[in-house]
Amino acid sequence: MLSIRTLEITGAPPSVRLWLLTRAAFVLFIGVVVGLLWFSHRADVDERRATLISDMLWLEQDLRFVMLHNEELLQRLGEGRLTRAADFTAGAKALTAANNGLQQIFWLDAAGRSVFVEPASLPSLADPINPNPHTSVPAGETIKLATSIGKATYSPTYSIAQNDWQFEIHVPVISAGKLQGIMVGVYSLKRLIDAAVPWWLTERYRISVIDYDGRELVSRSRVAPLHADSDYQLSFDPPGRGLALRAVPYQLSPPLVGRILSAALIFLALAVLVSLWALRKHIQRRLSAEAALRDQYAFRKAMEDSLQTGLRARELNGRITYVNPAFCRMVGWSADELVGRDPPMPYWADEDVAETQRIHDKILAGEGPEAGFELRFRRRTGEMFTALIHEAPLINAQGAHTGWMGSMVDISDRKQAEERARLQQERLQATSRLVAMGEMASSLAHELNQPLAAISSYCTASLNLIRAGSNASEIAPALERAVDQTQRAGKIVRRIYSGVRRSEGGLDFIALQECLDVALGLIEHDLRRQNIRVLRDFAKPCIIFGDQVMLEQVVFNLLRNAADAMQDTPPEQRVITVSLDEVEGYARVSVADQGSGIAPELTEKLFDPLFTTKPEGMGMGLAICRSVVESHRGRLWFEANASCGSVFRIFLPIAETGAQS
Ligand code: ADP
Repeated sequence: MLSIRTLEITGAPPSVRLWLLTRAAFVLFIGVVVGLLWFSHRADVDERRATLISDMLWLEQDLRFVMLHNEELLQRLGEGRLTRAADFTAGAKALTAANNGLQQIFWLDAAGRSVFVEPASLPSLADPINPNPHTSVPAGETIKLATSIGKATYSPTYSIAQNDWQFEIHVPVISAGKLQGIMVGVYSLKRLIDAAVPWWLTERYRISVIDYDGRELVSRSRVAPLHADSDYQLSFDPPGRGLALRAVPYQLSPPLVGRILSAALIFLALAVLVSLWALRKHIQRRLSAEAALRDQYAFRKAMEDSLQTGLRARELNGRITYVNPAFCRMVGWSADELVGRDPPMPYWADEDVAETQRIHDKILAGEGPEAGFELRFRRRTGEMFTALIHEAPLINAQGAHTGWMGSMVDISDRKQAEERARLQQERLQATSRLVAMGEMASSLAHELNQPLAAISSYCTASLNLIRAGSNASEIAPALERAVDQTQRAGKIVRRIYSGVRRSEGGLDFIALQECLDVALGLIEHDLRRQNIRVLRDFAKPCIIFGDQVMLEQVVFNLLRNAADAMQDTPPEQRVITVSLDEVEGYARVSVADQGSGIAPELTEKLFDPLFTTKPEGMGMGLAICRSVVESHRGRLWFEANASCGSVFRIFLPIAETGAQS
């Protein structure tokens, strides 16, 4: 788990790691701040506790001193002035007025009887009100105890009035080993505490005297204490008898420096928290901006990589700074090999280096042709190719012209296609001429056959007449007829020639169904003579672009071959089906017969020039037909007919700009 976590952190981007580190530092910082505050509080509490203890020890010492001093004064009073009431009164008055807790002085004789009392207005010793039940000792007991041990003895505490308690000190006065009497000082707890506890102590604590049960007898304080659990107790001895001094500290506000320190720490922690929050926001914004940038970069890179156009950036001095994959594919050199290179470039054709350098210099001078230009380059394989190049100034974000950006398209295929089209056009014209010549030749052969035969027979007859010694008038008619036939032959030649010239008319949009009608019209007479029926199935009228006369001639040839193939077919089955339809952008013309069919061994040779199976055939028909069709970017082939015979099919591309109905 730890290693996975470590891996995650190590693998995270630097900003994320920084954020994690900052978060850890913040937690540490908060921990330190809280710890500091806690330690400061503890130190404060301990210090206050120590102060409380030392204050209480001081108070206890002070009380002990006051009471011992009182005891000494009482002793002295008893020893010196026992007989005269005036002396006792003066001494006792001075003692009770001394703000030492004493409020009444008694002088008892050795039997414990009251001799003098000052002030006499207060209750006598015999009538204590509500003495403490737990510590109550009869008044005589204290006297007895004091006289028996010969030392000052304190009585239990008892209540004499609301909110005040008192106790007595019995000081036995012994002279010459004999008890002379007992000096009794009556303490008011309230007066004693008021006198002994200084004002500054009451500022800090609630000082009280509590009895054995924890009951508060008297107290001195300014305000109510809040922390009763942090009190401190000391036994109050003398007078003892279960009494204790208790101090409860007030809830004092912490010292100013401490408060300022705490406030500063809290403020700092808050400031760190806020700045961390801001930092987190900033990092999040940065991360999302980085992600968006990465996406955009990936998108642009994908676009550049999938582009078929080569891109190349150059500095103002012509050094290559960037090439895209399409450019590298075109020239065959990798980006690493090209970037940073100066002209001449490795893909410049050796034979065109001077011309390429000239164009290159023009581009760098800002005089490159805006419409683009064509240049021949050499691939790494040595193969030449032609590229169409457009150059544009490269302007950076500040608007400064920093170089040149060029796009390069390999137009070799287009060039080859153009060349092929040109050659095809030439071939078409040549074929056209060949067809025309073939047509002329066959027509001449066919048409001139009869006049030539007539001329031959008229001439033979004339020769026979001459040999037989006939006169000129007898010979002349035969010769005139021969002349007529010669003239007719001349006419035929002219007509055929004019027909051939018509075929040089060139290319145009052709309605194929019309073309088929014309071809059928030309052969109609022959077909009828041979009892051949024609079925037309023109499912879809089609417009193509081409030479109408030549295409008529092609269909005418196919019809004539079909008719020839059905010579041995019973007359009732002699049917030629001519159909026209459209298949995937092509016009399809089919000429199907019920003839002899084509033997498999002949299929290879059928379209060869001069191949014929007919005694009087020339074997040029199908070869010329295929050339004509292919020169129209079409195809001509044959299949076996479903029933019997063959089907010859012509595929011709439908004209794109032709108006099709
Ligand atoms: P020719 O008609 O002068 O013989 P072609 O080139 O037109 O020359 O035809 C070559 C050969 O193809 C023909 O001699 C014939 O054997 C064969 N042929 C052409 N069309 C058909 C057809 N429809 N049925 C059977 N054979 C055919």
